[in-house]
This record gives sequence, structure tokens and C-alpha cells, in this order.
Amino acid sequence: MSNCVFCKIVNWETPSQQVYEDDQFIAFLDINPMNWGHTLVIPRGHYENVLDVPEDILAGMIKIAKKVAPAVVSAMKADGFNIEINNGRAAGQLVDHVHIHVIPRIQGDNLKSGPSRSRYAEGEMGATAKKIKDAIK
Ligand code: 5GP
Ligand code: ZN
Repeated sequence: MSNCVFCKIVNWETPSQQVYEDDQFIAFLDINPMNWGHTLVIPRGHYENVLDVPEDILAGMIKIAKKVAPAVVSAMKADGFNIEINNGRAAGQLVDHVHIHVIPRIQGDNLKSGPSRSRYAEGEMGATAKKIKDAIK
């Protein structure tokens, strides 16, 4: 999909801070994190949502989220995490390339769902990605 921002990330046409990659999936930091370390897991192939993506690829996405989540938690010294998939505009989906949000949670952070405007300071995104990458087992 030529106009899909996540396909552009897959093809390195748009830069991203990746924490995991294999031949089918990548995981990278969300550019507007709900909490620092907020990571997105996507298939390399373009599928719009949970209903479009083949079951084996959806299962693979969950496997990668399970691999990445403990690394996000330990790297960010978090207390827990949310795993979310938004499907359709009404559900808050803004990018039509299926993705799992892995959002680290800090006790008492009172995070509200919905789009975030947070941005990493210069250099901080790369440093955060490296911490998570180094923590993946
Ligand atoms: P959705 O609302 O579709 O579930 O989530 C899309 C997410 O993608 C949002 O959290 C948004 O911040 C993130 N996002 C949108 N464009 C980019 C981008 O160009 N790079 C990165 N790293 N994240 C993006
Ligand atoms: Zn796409």
C-alpha cells in the first residue's frame, strides 16, 4: 500500500526506531507515545484490521507482542502493560495497517485512552529503543 505510513516504515521509506524485526513482523516505538516505551507490533504485509489479517499472522503478532512486552516493562521500569488493537475509526484506529499497541503502565499513571501528543526529546527515542532492544530475550 503506497500511501500507508506503516508500509513506509516496513520499507524504510519512513524512519522508525525499531526494537524487533524478523521476516514477517517488526516492532517499533510509537512516535506519540501514551507512555515512554509505547511500542507497536505490525506484520510486514498490509492488512487493515483484525478481521482482514489471516489468523496465523494475527497469532504471530501476539507472539511478538509477548516477546516485546516484558522487555518494554523491564527497560521502562514499568509495573504493567496494556495490549490493545483498535479496529475502525470509532474504535480509535488512525492507521489502517493492523497493529498491536504495547503500552507500559506505571502504578497510578492515570493514563486515559485516546491519541497522545507526547513526543520524545532529541536523542531520547533512539536511547529508549536501544534499552528495549537490549532487554528482548
Ligand atoms: P491507532 O490509533 O491507529 O490504533 O494507532 C496508530 C499509532 O501510530 C498512533 O499511536 C500514532 O502515534 C502512531 N503513528 C502514526 N504515525 C506514525 C509514524 O509515522 N511513526 C511512528 N513511529 N508511529 C506513528
Ligand atoms: Zn500498510
